[in-house]
Amino acid sequence: CNNFCSYCIVPYLRGREVSRDSGEIIEDINNLVKLGVKQATLLGQNVNSYGNDTNDINFPSLLKKISNETDIKWIKYLSSHPKDFTDELIEVISTEKKVSKWLHLAVQSGSNKILEKMNRKYKIETYIEKVMKLKSLNPELNLTTDIIVGFPGETEADFNDTVDLINTVKFDDAFMYKYNIRENTFAAKELGDDVPEDEKLSRLSKIIDLQRDIKSENKKKRIGSILEVIPEKFSKNSDREILGNSAEDLMVLFQGEEKDFEEILKVKVTQLKGGSLFGEIVD
Ligand code: SF4
Repeated sequence: CNNFCSYCIVPYLRGREVSRDSGEIIEDINNLVKLGVKQATLLGQNVNSYGNDTNDINFPSLLKKISNETDIKWIKYLSSHPKDFTDELIEVISTEKKVSKWLHLAVQSGSNKILEKMNRKYKIETYIEKVMKLKSLNPELNLTTDIIVGFPGETEADFNDTVDLINTVKFDDAFMYKYNIRENTFAAKELGDDVPEDEKLSRLSKIIDLQRDIKSENKKKRIGSILEVIPEKFSKNSDREILGNSAEDLMVLFQGEEKDFEEILKVKVTQLKGGSLFGEIVD
């Protein structure tokens, strides 16, 4: 990773960004397709800056190339960085059928002051504008994020900006953390750790509660929709119940049998129970 977010140790441990040759990626995926693989996930700490270090194609073009030159059914990718999330990428996600309508786009904070201290290199207004555009073009989008509370210098007002952000964007899911010092990072050396532990915990608990309600509301809206699903395994509860993963990376449970594992299925979502989506095969 080339980004050096001030709290993160990854660039020191893993070194700089290196993009693989696009031709090799196509070859790998074609080989996987021959083995029966239906879904490929492109993985990088900052996957959407692919190609910035070479004269090869950029990330939106890579998605199109995989779409056109392989028989893979679905393409997923993570993790994307908001600063490299371009209109060109929004267009490709919105128009290429094979590209997943799941986006994990770590926001970290709703406060521009904190984003700057984190060295995240985007403004919150730009982040909101981009994700809202993507959501409006893709109503089925599954938008997930990461959030840190209690970063050095985070005041009540900064935290409230994060609460406002969550209420505005209505993420489908979020990984939420309280700030912990990572040794040898810029934040550890230069920024201190001035938010008291009990305050960090209280802020974390507040956004976890808020996000839990939003997640549930969003999931309820999926009831009645038809998801394309790759069956993954029988559920722990029954050998007639299959746990599948949708094109939007949503998990859904439905009745099925061994032969159902061979294909991508169409599953109609019928209910939300205990936080899990349940459905039935319709095709
Ligand atoms: Fe890179 Fe992600 Fe760490 Fe930032 S948080 S430095 S983008 S790995």
